[in-house]
Amino acid sequence: MSKPLITVAQARQRVLSAVTPLGTEPVEIDRALGRVLAGDVRAQGNVPPFPSSAMDGYAVIAADAGHRLRVVGESRAGAPIQRTLGEGEAIRISTGGAVPAGATAVIPQEVVSRDGEVIETEAAMEPGENIRQPGEDMRAGATILRAGTRLGAVELGAAVAAGAGSVIVARMPRVTVLCTGDELRAPGEPLNPGEIHNSNAPMLTGLAQRWGAQTAPAQRLPDDRQATEAGLEAALENSDLLLISGGVSVGPHDHVKPALAALAVQELFWSVSLQPGKPTWFGVRDGRFVFGLPGNPVSAVVTFSLFVVPALSALQGAGAPPRLDVEAELGVGVRRNPRREQAVRVTLHRRDGRTVAVPTGAQGSHILSSLLGADALAMVPAGEGELAAGSTVALEPIAW
Ligand code: AMP
Ligand code: MG
Repeated sequence: MSKPLITVAQARQRVLSAVTPLGTEPVEIDRALGRVLAGDVRAQGNVPPFPSSAMDGYAVIAADAGHRLRVVGESRAGAPIQRTLGEGEAIRISTGGAVPAGATAVIPQEVVSRDGEVIETEAAMEPGENIRQPGEDMRAGATILRAGTRLGAVELGAAVAAGAGSVIVARMPRVTVLCTGDELRAPGEPLNPGEIHNSNAPMLTGLAQRWGAQTAPAQRLPDDRQATEAGLEAALENSDLLLISGGVSVGPHDHVKPALAALAVQELFWSVSLQPGKPTWFGVRDGRFVFGLPGNPVSAVVTFSLFVVPALSALQGAGAPPRLDVEAELGVGVRRNPRREQAVRVTLHRRDGRTVAVPTGAQGSHILSSLLGADALAMVPAGEGELAAGSTVALEPIAW
């Protein structure tokens, strides 16, 4: 009886307990997209900073309809008027213009009639109407973004509104992708007998970049023990994380594990109760992390989604990556694997208020085309027989 395999949840836990955040650095806001905040962002002042108009119209003293007011000036966005509004007066104002002292409401231009320098109000105005109060969006000193937040476009907008010109973020993990295999050819190269194109290189590189990594050009390693060891050693020198694809199994031409052992990279787990993705290796040397991912392209993407995303997030001090906190109903029965949890690529459909997961097609770990258009992985627990149509399954995000 072989030793029980580590579960997906245990493997992920091991990743999260091993990986600690890299250092931090300041970056200008216009270079911060996709980076992870290392400190909170607070509002440096009230936002909006001053009472401003929500409408194009006239700043007035709130009153009933039917008043005739003299227009005594204008407050435009960016050009406030230096005058206090008095009784019987109105000041032309545009959206975003500073509400002048003395004014208590803005009457929209649609509800006044104007005759030369005099307007007549045609609607009653309550105090504060159409005025945006200072701090209504952000109060001075309030925490707007928390450390650990990945900065998307909206987060960058909020940081700038809060007054930030630069932010402190986690250093980008330096990732090297190494694809092992004598059979691998570069994109577009003609294939000799027995050769295939290296599809893992662009996938792993792209996914790593998507999760905030700075990637070196992917390398190819031949199925040779010395070359593997030399390639891994060199990559370890200048990487925070190595993503090795293929060569990690136990065949006579799989050199990754012995090479890692020779390089004193400590194994943290090997072989997961997962299909596809069983031959997955994870280890560490001096704070540099190494994943040996299976060579089959679907396995590589699935294990990246389940294990490498948490590692890259933890290196950047980001909270646990977002989970698909939904369950789905299996649209068809799925034959179970007696020893391994299965990650089935599925499309998701709404049916009678429920989410139904339908496998995308053939599920072999070499069938890259059935990853195309997949919405998620439906996790089918290990077990005998079939998990019946209609059963509830957990979902994991995939290659997102
Ligand atoms: P391995 O893990 O090296 O035994 O490889 C398992 C399968 O994945 C074999 O069919 C390999 O040819 C294939 N494979 C390995 N690396 C890659 C790669 N970079 N791109 C596409 N297929 C690969
Ligand atoms: Mg191989």
